[in-house]
Amino acid sequence: GKSAPKPAETRIITVSNQKGGVGKTTTSVNLSAAMAILGMRVLVIDLDPQGNASTALNIEHRGETPGTYEALIEGVPMTELVQQSPDFPTLFCCPATLDLAGAEIELVNMENREHRLNTALTNFLDESSATGERFDYVFIDCPPSLGLLTVNAFVAARELLIPIQCEYYALEGLSQLLGTVEEFKQHLNPSLALSTIVLTMYDKRTNLSREVREEVMKHFPEQTLDSVIPRSVRISEAPSYGQTVMSYDPEGIGAIAYKEAAMEIAQRGANE
Ligand code: ADP
Ligand code: MG
Repeated sequence: GKSAPKPAETRIITVSNQKGGVGKTTTSVNLSAAMAILGMRVLVIDLDPQGNASTALNIEHRGETPGTYEALIEGVPMTELVQQSPDFPTLFCCPATLDLAGAEIELVNMENREHRLNTALTNFLDESSATGERFDYVFIDCPPSLGLLTVNAFVAARELLIPIQCEYYALEGLSQLLGTVEEFKQHLNPSLALSTIVLTMYDKRTNLSREVREEVMKHFPEQTLDSVIPRSVRISEAPSYGQTVMSYDPEGIGAIAYKEAAMEIAQRGANE
């Protein structure tokens, strides 16, 4: 089949939407696994205290497991925190534990509070490149809020990926999110750009899914992927087996859709 071009520089993509349950985590882990299958070296940063991305990737994240909290609050180098996926050799994850819920508050009074993830990640990526193991993609799975954890993701990333669930009110709250991004560009990170919108839980039998897609495409013709992620029981079951859908049901419609989305992201990036 087609081969996916590797990016000239590491692409750092934050997966954000202040709504919960729209498919942020599902998209982070499955796109990452799909990218790994395409031959990319990929890091997932679990920035949600729920640790759902760590669970889905079958990465150890019990209470005492050091992870994103230690990177942000204690300055522990990410080389000591990142774990390799048991299913995909070029996929890695910095896990999250419930400690991270406290980080949101602890960060408030810390120095460089908006830049701590950026510093940790930059050091990690520099070190990885120096040892000849350059990462091609970093996906940051954000919590459903616009608090300091998400702010750290916006400072560390160059690209914003927004998953949109095909439902009523899909676009509600989007203008708030985009307003926040604009403020960011002015104050904290001029290089942040909304690069990608992924439509999730698409049900081709309903007019609603079609209408949401048309509406989103009208507003964001450049950013919206042609590939849509269908609603699929396999996609929602996979995490309870500690798997991505890419390994749980590799030939199914969910895995195929995420592979197509990954290919599209890789090719769009290469055409910039
Ligand atoms: P978020 O991270 O934005 O809160 P999740 O990725 O956890 O959202 O998804 C919310 C719920 O929807 C989860 O139970 C997940 O398994 C389910 N889900 C996500 N994408 C799909 C899909 N394409 N088909 C079916 N269920 C999905
Ligand atoms: Mg989530």
